[in-house]
Order: sequence, then C-alpha cells, then structure tokens
Amino acid sequence: MPVRFWNREQVWLLPPSVDELIVRDHPARFVAAFVDALESSFWSDMGIGIGGDHMGAPAYHPRALLSVWLYGFMTGIRSSRKLEAACRDQLPYLWITGWQHPDHNTLWRFYQAHREEMKAIFKRTVLTAMKIGLVDLAVQAIDGTKIAGNASKDRTYDAKKLQQLLNRTEAAIADLEEQNEQGNDPPPVHLPKQLADKQNLRDKVKTAMDQLAADEGRKNVNLTDGDTKLMKGRQGIAPSYNLQAVVAPVKATEGTGRLITASDVVQDQNDMAQLVPMLKQSEENTGGRPDKLIADAGYRSGSNLQTCAEIGQSIVMPVFRLSGHNQTYHKDNFSYDINTDSYICPGGQVLHFIGIKHTRNKRLYRASKGICKECPAFGVCTKDRRQGRALEIGPNEAVFQRHREWMETEEAKSLMRRRKELPEAVFGILKEQQAGRRFLLRGLSNVKAEAKLLVTAFNLRTLYRKWRQDMNYQECPAMVGIICSSFATRTGLLALPLKNRQNCTIINDVRQWWIIFAHALQSGLAY
Ligand code: SF4
Repeated sequence: MPVRFWNREQVWLLPPSVDELIVRDHPARFVAAFVDALESSFWSDMGIGIGGDHMGAPAYHPRALLSVWLYGFMTGIRSSRKLEAACRDQLPYLWITGWQHPDHNTLWRFYQAHREEMKAIFKRTVLTAMKIGLVDLAVQAIDGTKIAGNASKDRTYDAKKLQQLLNRTEAAIADLEEQNEQGNDPPPVHLPKQLADKQNLRDKVKTAMDQLAADEGRKNVNLTDGDTKLMKGRQGIAPSYNLQAVVAPVKATEGTGRLITASDVVQDQNDMAQLVPMLKQSEENTGGRPDKLIADAGYRSGSNLQTCAEIGQSIVMPVFRLSGHNQTYHKDNFSYDINTDSYICPGGQVLHFIGIKHTRNKRLYRASKGICKECPAFGVCTKDRRQGRALEIGPNEAVFQRHREWMETEEAKSLMRRRKELPEAVFGILKEQQAGRRFLLRGLSNVKAEAKLLVTAFNLRTLYRKWRQDMNYQECPAMVGIICSSFATRTGLLALPLKNRQNCTIINDVRQWWIIFAHALQSGLAY
C-alpha cells in the first residue's frame, strides 16, 4: 500500500479562514449564537457595556470572553490558565475569540467581576428550553451530590488540634522575632517571609477558632477553605460542599436528555432541609411546580411531607419498610380509636395514651403492664419485658400514613424507578465530562457562583443537542424544497407547510415536505 504524502511544513496557496475549519454544527457556534442572542439590557444588568469605552486601550469584546467561559465550562476547561492555553492552541477557542488571545489575567478579571451576575444566564437557559418546548416539566427529581472543595483533608482541625497548632505557631513566631532582634543589622523594611507566613498562619488559626466557637454543632474546620465541611462521598470523607439540583427530562419526542431547573450549593451534608427551598427555586425559574416531584429517602421528614401536603405538591420518595414479621407489627397496623385516644394492636390489645415525649414532641402509647410479655408476638413486636411495646406518634403521623399509602400505588412505584435516570445521570456528566469533581474556588459565595456556571453549561449542552438536530435538518430544505415545490404547487398542498410555518420547527417542515413529495408521487403528478 502506498504511503500518503506527508509534510509538516506544508503551506497553503489560499489560507483557509478559521470559520471554514469549524463545522457548522460545532458546540462553539452554538455558544456564540446563544451569547449573541443576549439582548443589550441583559448585558447592562450584568454591569457590562458591550459598546466598550472611549478611553484607554481597546478591551476584548465581552461576548468573546463570556463565550470562552461558557464553552470552557461545557467542555471541562474551567481554570483561567487552561483557558488561556486553549485560546492559543484550540481551534474552537480561536474561532470564538476571532483569533485573539486573551491571557489568564484578562479572563480571570472578567470572571471575577461578573460571576455573580452570570448566575442570571442559568435562568435564561431554563426559559429558552421552555420556550422551544424542549423540556417536560410535569415530573422532576431532586437530589444532592458531594463535590470536593479546593482544600486538603489534612488541613482540617478540631478545637484541640487548633489550640496545639496555635501554641506551636506562637512559639515559632517568638523564636523568629528573637532571632531578628539579636542581629546587629538594622530591621528590614519588610517582614522576613518565614515570619510573615507564621503570622499569617496564626491569623488563620484564630479565625478558624472563632468559626468553631460561633457554630455550636461544628466539630472541625478547614484552614484552607473554612466554609467546607467534612462530608462522606463516593471517594471517601473529604472537605466538600453539597450540590443540590432539581432535574426535568427532555420531552420524549425530542429524544433523551435532561435540564436542571434549580440548583444551589449548601454546607449541610444532610439533604433534608433543602427540599422546600429547591422546590421554590424551581418554581421561580419555571413559573410553576411539577405535577410530581421525585426525591430520595434523604429528603423524607414529617415537616417536608407536611409542607408538600399544604401546598398540594405530590411527592414520591422511598418509604422505610420492615421485612417479614416485623411489617405485621408496624405502627401502620395499629388502629386508632378517636373516642378513647388509644390504639388497638394486631394482637387485639389496647395501647393507652400515657404521656408526651417532650424531647421529640411525640405522643406515647403503651399496653397495660405484663400483656406484651404473654403475647405470642413478643420478641417480634417488642423485646421490652418490663414495659411492653411503645407506640410513638409524632405530630406529622397522618401525613406519613397518607404518604405510605400513596407509595403503595403502581403510579408511585413506577415514578420511583425514574429517580436514577434523572439527577444521577446529570451528576455523572457534571463530574466526568465537565470536570466538576472538585471546585476550583474557595469560600461559599465563590463556590455558589462556580456551581451555577457549571449547571448553566450543563443546560447549554442540552440546548446544543436540540440546536444541532435542527441545524442538521436545515441542511435538507434547500435541496428538498427545490425538488418538492413544483409538485406541491401543482397538488395545491403548498398551503399545508406554509400555514403552520410560524409555529413549526425545521424538522416538522422537512417532514411535511416529504409527505407532500410522497403524496405527489402517489397522485401521479410527478414529472
Ligand atoms: S406484643 Fe403487645 S403490642 Fe405487640 S401484638 Fe402483642 S400485645 Fe400487641
């Protein structure tokens, strides 16, 4: 087999433009189109004048810089230095910037100045998806995932270790100051670096101690990023944040895919308190609540169920079930007698109200002394020889009961099976394809902004697929239109696609043209 001619120094007779080298359905083109569509009021809300200034050196166009950041987050390049490199050696970035090379300082300054305002782009992605009818908002799912902070676990200290570190640091500072004083040289203008580092560390330790003292439930604090908390993720225990997301599927007619309708970063590793705020945020972004919200067991609490019942939100989440015999003696199987305020157990015995457990605000019911010990169910229903079975009824018991009954239905069971295909798939893409296993910024407010750009980029990926689909169908109409128009005109069917042209998408147009074409052939009107 002959070998192809190969020459690295090959020159072009007519140099190609970068535009020719980027395919027409490339994601970079979609990002540019999305950013170009942002109206001037949107830019002024972000505090950016896109017309530039009359004074000073010409700046990079904000559209180019924003496109670089969005495209970078979509493809897993999230640091300003890596973006700078990409703007020099990657064709899509060269196309986005118009062959300009913003350095990392320029990119960073733009991101730092506008990352808070960039959060508004997330809502824009949700509204765009709704406007083009891409997303099915009837069923949404909520979940959380732990994302590591930009901090090492080794820099996490409890109160005792912080005190030890403070003692060591102060001793080292005293030692260094003494060494400085002993010399005959005049005192330096600046603090020696070693001493400055130690003083810096002392300040950090003191701040961390204040943080621990201010938060009663907190046991440790990280010196690199004091806002992280030690959380258990798939990779083990690490200083992390909890990323929450509400996810809706793309309409079945549009293929597969997901859209994030709400997201936030919290410091609490427990998801329970996030259900209501996330539901509210999703409602703000989409203008309504889902018909059904799917959640995992981490969100199950009496207050969450109670709130959902009050606002009429149907929620699907797993119910903790006991197996075998234990299920027979679950408190659901004890019937309540409202007249005597007592329960009848499956063994037919009466459990009387004996008082309120103030620590947990629960009503306590028990059978008369000695009854349970003699019952055949003793050992399964209860193992308490002295007092017998205790039935604790919380203030939200009725909503728990109703929810357990709802979860027994086939509809709830089939919805429950959809949980894994929604948020978990999204988190996989965020972490693997968008390189979001770890935050790059430190501090809660910075991390919130970073996470918002990450989920915005995820939504852009979903929108891109639809854009590409339409773009590819757009290849055909010119050709198909020429072939078909003469047949359509003769058959009088031209009105059909034109009538709905305002509302129909390109894909529908093409399909309609082919229907006309087939119709014309069948009618024998073809040339
Ligand atoms: S152990 Fe007590 S509460 Fe349980 S079934 Fe027997 S009598 Fe009823």
